[in-house]
Amino acid sequence: MRVDDAAPRDADVVIAGGGPAGALAALLLARAGARVIVIERAKFPRPKLCGDTLNPGAAVLLARHVDVDALSRLGHVIEGMLLTGPGGVRVHGRYGTGIAGIGITRDVFDAWLLARAADAGANVHQQTRVVAPIVDSGGVVRGVRIRRRDGEHTHVRALMTLAADGRRSTLAAACALTRVPPSPRRWAVGAYFDDVDDLAAVGEMHVRRGYYLGVAPTRDGRANACLVEAPDTSDTDWRRPADVLQARLSSDETLGPRFRRARMCTQPAVLGPLAVEAHAPGAPGLLLVGDAAGFVDPMTGDGIRLALASAEIAADICTGVLRGTHTPDDAHLPYARALRRALAPKRAFNKALRGLVGSPAGVAAAAHLARHWPSAFASVIRVAGDAGIGGRR
Ligand SMILES: Cc1cc2nc3c(=O)[nH]c(=O)nc-3n(C[C@H](O)[C@H](O)[C@H](O)COP(=O)(O)OP(=O)(O)OC[C@H]3O[C@@H](n4cnc5c(N)ncnc54)[C@H](O)[C@@H]3O)c2cc1C
Repeated sequence: MRVDDAAPRDADVVIAGGGPAGALAALLLARAGARVIVIERAKFPRPKLCGDTLNPGAAVLLARHVDVDALSRLGHVIEGMLLTGPGGVRVHGRYGTGIAGIGITRDVFDAWLLARAADAGANVHQQTRVVAPIVDSGGVVRGVRIRRRDGEHTHVRALMTLAADGRRSTLAAACALTRVPPSPRRWAVGAYFDDVDDLAAVGEMHVRRGYYLGVAPTRDGRANACLVEAPDTSDTDWRRPADVLQARLSSDETLGPRFRRARMCTQPAVLGPLAVEAHAPGAPGLLLVGDAAGFVDPMTGDGIRLALASAEIAADICTGVLRGTHTPDDAHLPYARALRRALAPKRAFNKALRGLVGSPAGVAAAAHLARHWPSAFASVIRVAGDAGIGGRR
């Protein structure tokens, strides 16, 4: 990937964060002729705690903009989901003929997409951190202050600023748009394992009372296993999250036998508390994109699809600013409306599903339902995977 080492100059749009949301927004804006600067604190490729699955909706969305077959060759096909619950409940849902997700590790996916943005003409500055927004006397964000790899502090002025810097967005927090809610207070721990038995071309979600485990195959035959749990209410000692992950896997009725020979082959990554709420997805001159606009937890496995969808909308609004349809000062208003229209139904579905499995009684009810009406849960898997969005690839 071409990486710019010169000091970033001013731009039409400056984007904090080069993850999926920032990279896609940069790509779309560069193709629309905008001068785009991406400021990314990491050096790609970098690892990221994730279930490593682009759901079918994410794959369809990406196919509108990039050569998704080339991307698929870096990963592998995910045909559906295996969902299990307490008491031996087991539902295997396929997305449908010609509909598939892509299993791909985030070091590979994120670097690939950011490289496509650079190919399109975006100016990418890695190992450079956004430290604060530049806010004018009228309260409008006019760019960002940054710290470069060599420690130098400088700034980038821009007509529009996108905060695509993830759950703990520096820009969203500085503009008082986000907060960590008192609940839920769930954490995630994940690692890769060798020698896991019975892996198939599906993502797995194992919902238990008080926590859930996601398991996904990787291209090189390993398994990615993530645990999400609220340490405050857990009966385990979260001071050693890797031990909790191991214990949850090995004592599990379904997973224990499959992980009997398994060996954790990477350092575990830990993240939390996961939930961040945004009371608005932007402010004058600033749009929050992807997880920066709020995140609950990864139960439905659609975070990347939602991040990409918000990037498309943000790019469209910024193009409108450059063409004079919107002004930088009020662009956050049509952005909020478009985001709500596009994403509210899926967010409501996710909330309902979380509510169902969020309490012991809910898990028991869901398990009962799944046992007696498995086809309903197969539909839930398709909706969670955004399998109906945009049709087949
Ligand atoms: C345990 C777990 C499992 C998950 N599994 C899945 C899954 O299987 N499928 C799925 O679709 N979603 C999954 N998700 C959700 C998914 O990871 C996110 O929704 C997605 O990464 C959002 O993309 P983003 O671009 O908004 O943010 P991010 O991917 O977080 O990217 C933000 C980028 O901003 C950079 N950055 C941060 N701060 C600064 C700064 N100050 N200056 C410059 N750069 C900065 C970061 O380095 C990063 O590269 C999972 C999440 C968790 C926690």
